[in-house]
Amino acid sequence: MPADIPGIHHVTAIASDPSRNLAFYTETLGLRLVKQSVNQDDTSVYHLFYGDHGGSPGTSMTFFPYAGAQPGQVGTGQVQTTQFLIPESAVDYWTDRLAEAGVDADDPVERFGDTVIPFRDPDGLPLELVGRADAPAGDPPEGPVPEDHAIRGFFGVTLSLTEGGSTASLLETMGFREGESKGHRQRYEADGDLGYVVDIVEDPQAPRGQPGAGTVHHVAFQVTAEEQAEWREVLQEHGLRPTEIIDRKWFESVYARTNGGVLFEFATEEPGYTVDEELESLGERLVLPEWFEDQREQIEASLPEL
Ligand code: ZN
Repeated sequence: MPADIPGIHHVTAIASDPSRNLAFYTETLGLRLVKQSVNQDDTSVYHLFYGDHGGSPGTSMTFFPYAGAQPGQVGTGQVQTTQFLIPESAVDYWTDRLAEAGVDADDPVERFGDTVIPFRDPDGLPLELVGRADAPAGDPPEGPVPEDHAIRGFFGVTLSLTEGGSTASLLETMGFREGESKGHRQRYEADGDLGYVVDIVEDPQAPRGQPGAGTVHHVAFQVTAEEQAEWREVLQEHGLRPTEIIDRKWFESVYARTNGGVLFEFATEEPGYTVDEELESLGERLVLPEWFEDQREQIEASLPEL
């Protein structure tokens, strides 16, 4: 068996207007644009990566912003909510900051002892800030949010499922242990210090999710390059049909749709976002994997201005 997975590597969602997406995640949430590229399966669309200063695994929220995309419907078979980790002492700061920015946010709620601020991004994507006293110092980006209050990376994701059993069994194989539960929510926790929580909310009556702007496309978990082939076999043993190992330039990936309908990715921590750009200038220009460089002119011509 490969070693336990420490947590989430990245989360990828669908957005509409790329400039509005960029402004929200960098100016309002204070994340750093760490990579500006294109969707490798549809190069007419950007792939924007936001994260901490270095784009560490466990911090990158990424988007395919399709200009004019129709809104999707969040529902079963999807990541319902993506959660960011903040220090507990930053909860009041963020409540005020979101209100001042006119963000669609709810009053904080308590969940399993943590203070949680639910809010939506401009496309309606459900997000939460989770305040915890044990939030790691991390490597916050320089930007509009003071370092003490900055988002540290992911806390976790909530999966909405009609039936959670097979996904729970896969998570346990991945190294997530059953944690607290309340109502329809069952928590699973890994050993990492970022992105270490997956909550399953089981609701057979909930509407099925429809892909579109404001919905998550997939959630990626951190694996090592040495063990990626083993993880492919584990997925097959769970009755899933993983892809081959795909080179994504900044990581290598295996994808498999779980029986619950959620697309999981197993992405390597290496080589990371600094493989083709200097740390200090990450995200400042459009970068393409070398196998797309000969198409750069037509790719750039088809992308909207950021
Ligand atoms: Zn991905």
